[in-house]
Amino acid sequence: MAKIQMKTPLVEMDGDEMTRIIWQMIKDILVNPYIDLKTEYYDLGLVNRNDTNDQVTVDSAEATKRLGVAVKCATITPNAQRMTEYNLKEMWKSPNGTIRAILDGTVFRAPILVKGISTYIPTWTKPITIARHAYGDIYKNTEMKVAEGSKAELVVTAPDGTETRQTIHNFKGDGIIQGVHNTDASIASFARTCFNYALDTKQDLWFATKDTISKTYDHRFKDIFQEIYDAEYKEKFEEAGIEYFYTLIDDAVARVIRSEGGYIWACKNYDGDVMSDMLATAYGSLGLMTSVLVSPDGKYEYEAAHGTVTRHYYKHLKGEKTSTNPIATIFAWTGAFRKRGELDAIPELCEYADKMEAACIKTMEDGIMDRNLSMMCTLENKQAVDTETFLREIAKRYDNM
Ligand code: NAP
Ligand code: MG
Repeated sequence: MAKIQMKTPLVEMDGDEMTRIIWQMIKDILVNPYIDLKTEYYDLGLVNRNDTNDQVTVDSAEATKRLGVAVKCATITPNAQRMTEYNLKEMWKSPNGTIRAILDGTVFRAPILVKGISTYIPTWTKPITIARHAYGDIYKNTEMKVAEGSKAELVVTAPDGTETRQTIHNFKGDGIIQGVHNTDASIASFARTCFNYALDTKQDLWFATKDTISKTYDHRFKDIFQEIYDAEYKEKFEEAGIEYFYTLIDDAVARVIRSEGGYIWACKNYDGDVMSDMLATAYGSLGLMTSVLVSPDGKYEYEAAHGTVTRHYYKHLKGEKTSTNPIATIFAWTGAFRKRGELDAIPELCEYADKMEAACIKTMEDGIMDRNLSMMCTLENKQAVDTETFLREIAKRYDNM
């Protein structure tokens, strides 16, 4: 069979540890035999980030702006222990944070559903996609301890020097205060990215905040979403047969639990942080959670939601065979190929993505999976296999489709 030809290269962001090993295996076993792969390669492994003073991360994000679609392997975010382990010049920032800031992107996370891997919420038969606003609020806060007898005030100095003051609290005992902010521009690009992604994936969009309590701050989020929806998206949503609605976060949580899934839930920064962990746990497995970073002007970076699976990597270094789940990383590749196929009008690339994803699901529904997943699987004929066998079983099924 002739290999599928690509037009525009993908931005390929290589990474660290076990996922770096799996990255190469996926290319060898599931990509190169079928596609004449074109990529612009960036090595985001920690060694090369350190060697390039993290310039490679910036370059890879710029390349994504230029080419439009990237696929990223999981990477180490350095901490004190990694400083010694890798003899780092600096504690480099999280690559995901750097890329997200350059693309002004929003992260959409969605689970892959597999029969036999039951979710903790049995009514969730379709994926729920979480979109997290990744700027501001308590993640860029200023906070202080306040001593008894102090008066805390909010002071804003306008460009002309005029001051606006509001009392936060007169402290009769010791206490704490916190200052947070967000910007209209950031909220607006979050809103547009969510509306675009809903249209792109033909799913309803929900947005919720606590505007009944936070009548100015959270209410601003609600208003910006509504203004942009009414002015730019209402007709497009009606044409696509999908819905946007705002509701109070309390109501959203109740509806989410009772729902069957199949929509996008847009969250403020903190809500998105917490709720995405809740959803990932409820859907069962980190190895089945996908993630895509989307910019307001339609650039896409696909990845798995899990990390570099360090514990498995240390086993691998000792020469042991590991049983690591490659599925979310494979779906990062297929997501990127499908998007590239859509943008470049290469239907074969989209078909490859659909077929490869179906082969992945078929393999797991046949009971073949990694050890962690098999422990949660209710199928009778389940069989835990090592990573390479897992990949070869997927290839077999792809070939037979
Ligand atoms: P992790 O790599 O996601 O692993 C946490 C645990 O979850 C693993 O030890 C493993 O459990 C299980 N697991 C996760 N993915 C799996 C898979 N594909 N197959 C089988 N089991 C899987 O998270 P972490 O240990 O917190 O972080 C490790 C490194 O990854 C850190 O350096 C962190 O900075 C980085 N990280 C990167 C990203 C990213 O690039 N997007 C995201 C998160 C973390 P068992 O060990 O019990 O088998
Ligand atoms: Mg979290």
